[in-house]
Amino acid sequence: MSISDNIARVHEIIANACARSNRNPEDITLVAVSKQKPSTVVLEAMAAGVQHFGENRVEESMQKIPAVMEHPDSIRGARWHMIGHIQSRKVKHVVPIFDTLHSVDSVKIAQKLSQLAQVADKTIIVMLEINISGEEAKHGFDLHNWQQSAEKREAFWQVFDELHQLPNLDIRGLMTMAPYYDNSEDTRPVFADLAALKETLSGDFGVTIPDLSMGMTNDYHIAIEEGATIVRIGRAIFGERI
Ligand SMILES: *Cc1c(COP(=O)(O)O)cnc(C)c1O
Repeated sequence: MSISDNIARVHEIIANACARSNRNPEDITLVAVSKQKPSTVVLEAMAAGVQHFGENRVEESMQKIPAVMEHPDSIRGARWHMIGHIQSRKVKHVVPIFDTLHSVDSVKIAQKLSQLAQVADKTIIVMLEINISGEEAKHGFDLHNWQQSAEKREAFWQVFDELHQLPNLDIRGLMTMAPYYDNSEDTRPVFADLAALKETLSGDFGVTIPDLSMGMTNDYHIAIEEGATIVRIGRAIFGERI
């Protein structure tokens, strides 16, 4: 299967999941996760119509993104999404090359981002990474069992408020990763819980929170049924990583 065949197949699965859940496929953004893949492969995906790309390592991105963007075959309007954990000392490298950060997981990182974005005269689109499943290995604001914990809600509501005061950040949504399960159906409660959190937050703050970044190769069909607006797909497009 070629990359363009894979992309067509992913679009078909997105369309089917939308049909099952009465949604419009145009409301789903496909982010092709090109981590560990060379720029030639990114250009192939661009030629097949993909506009959004996800990377998780800063050093790799600092090489690859300019290489792709300066290539004559690069499309105009390509967008880069940082999906990996962001270390404080690397925020300065992230700001110039990425449009959207999916992995903002502390006030400290957000403050630093805001400062650097102001200097760069740029607005950064931000997703707040949420650890909804409670897995210890996961990054993100801890909102495991938030519906049962007034304490966790209070802490995060305060963070949410603080982050909205920061200039040059456009906080557009929440992001999560489901644990790996043999049966992808088991991810459903995790995605439903993030969707419920988004609804509760937007109600309490009286703001629109447009995006839910959730769903990867194993589980994006489920994430879409539960309200994902952005799916982050690597292996189904580019094959296994070594
Ligand atoms: C690697 C990665 C993905 C893509 O995973 P696949 O299983 O290859 O689709 C999505 N989101 C994050 C945060 C990742 O690190």
